[in-house]
Amino acid sequence: MITDMSTQRDLSASTGAAGTGIVFLDLKAQFATIREELIAAATRVLESQHFILGPEVEALEREAAQYVGAKFSIGCGSGSDALLLAQMALGIEPNDEIITTPFTFGATAGSIARIGARPVFVDIRSDTFNIDERQIEGAITSRTRAIMPVHLFGLPANMDAILKLAEKHHLAVIEDAAQAIGARWEQRGVGSLGTLGCFSFFPSKNLGGAGDGGMVTTNDGQLAERLRILRVHGCREKYHYELLGINSRLDALQAALLRVKLRHLDEWADQRRRNALRYRELFAKHELAQRLALPYCSHPKGHVYNQYSIRALRRNELRAHLQAQGIPSEVYYPSSLHLEPAFAYLGYGAGDFPNAEAASQEALSLPIYPELPLKDQCAVVASIAQFYRGNH
Ligand SMILES: *Cc1c(COP(=O)(O)O)cnc(C)c1O
Repeated sequence: MITDMSTQRDLSASTGAAGTGIVFLDLKAQFATIREELIAAATRVLESQHFILGPEVEALEREAAQYVGAKFSIGCGSGSDALLLAQMALGIEPNDEIITTPFTFGATAGSIARIGARPVFVDIRSDTFNIDERQIEGAITSRTRAIMPVHLFGLPANMDAILKLAEKHHLAVIEDAAQAIGARWEQRGVGSLGTLGCFSFFPSKNLGGAGDGGMVTTNDGQLAERLRILRVHGCREKYHYELLGINSRLDALQAALLRVKLRHLDEWADQRRRNALRYRELFAKHELAQRLALPYCSHPKGHVYNQYSIRALRRNELRAHLQAQGIPSEVYYPSSLHLEPAFAYLGYGAGDFPNAEAASQEALSLPIYPELPLKDQCAVVASIAQFYRGNH
């Protein structure tokens, strides 16, 4: 978790070492395009001196629910808290099991463990980096309460299969949509398909605030009501503790800024998809398409490319080569969660999830942010081509 936090700082500040000026994620470029709107929104909140929940948050919740296609949206402190709150709302208890992927950000499985439940890992598909829906049923036991798919890098997991299994076995589905706001499975927005959807407004996500923030979506009015109570210490009315809750609220400042950005989100997703298409064309031109496996996506609006992740043989050497030429890249993720010390108590070992382990050795994320200049993309691909030409 610390990695992602420090990464975000580095990414928005640092340009390539060799002075190419290429940036992995240029948040300043986005800020420049909406500066006045954001400053007006922040000023509005400062003038109001209303900082926590309140009308700005309610407006964002309405607008974001509509955007996602869910009936209800409940703002909260972070994407990690969204995952926790979703499980609290469902009444997940110690010894319950929740099935999820080991190839994800730590908060996915961390939230399950934090609740006291047991994360049960299922390997990923090698063609999408997402949980392998064909292996889920084999992991279901009498203690299983929910499936928590992650729409990794902005690409939806196979929700048809997951929803069908959930119905058959009476399980809840908690979508970890932290990286995927706006992504569609068939015609429906992620976060509106499962029992609950969890989103993050961390600055490097596609809809990023000026700090931490998150949201849970649902079509279930009772769950929505519980979530609203759980995020404010378990109180419907002040000082009357109906449930054991936590303090996890969205700030009015974040909500006001996010409302501005939400209006641009479709356009930014289109630009990310255009950049992905450009990479594809450039890879083809350099005859790299065979060498670099790319995630498979069947729906044109199915992928919002929070990350553009390729699979590359000799990934670490490639990354060092790029770095030496001033080309930034990132590794999401360098390890599969089942091999991390925090999850050792689950008793998994090397070889248990071969696709996740291979992905942690091969995945490399390239710059994909909406404003990324074409010439930067050309330089990235030229440098990759040079690496593989020079090495057999
Ligand atoms: C970012 C992220 C989270 C956590 O969100 P925060 O807002 O940083 O707490 C959870 N799951 C995934 C897959 C993420 O990428």
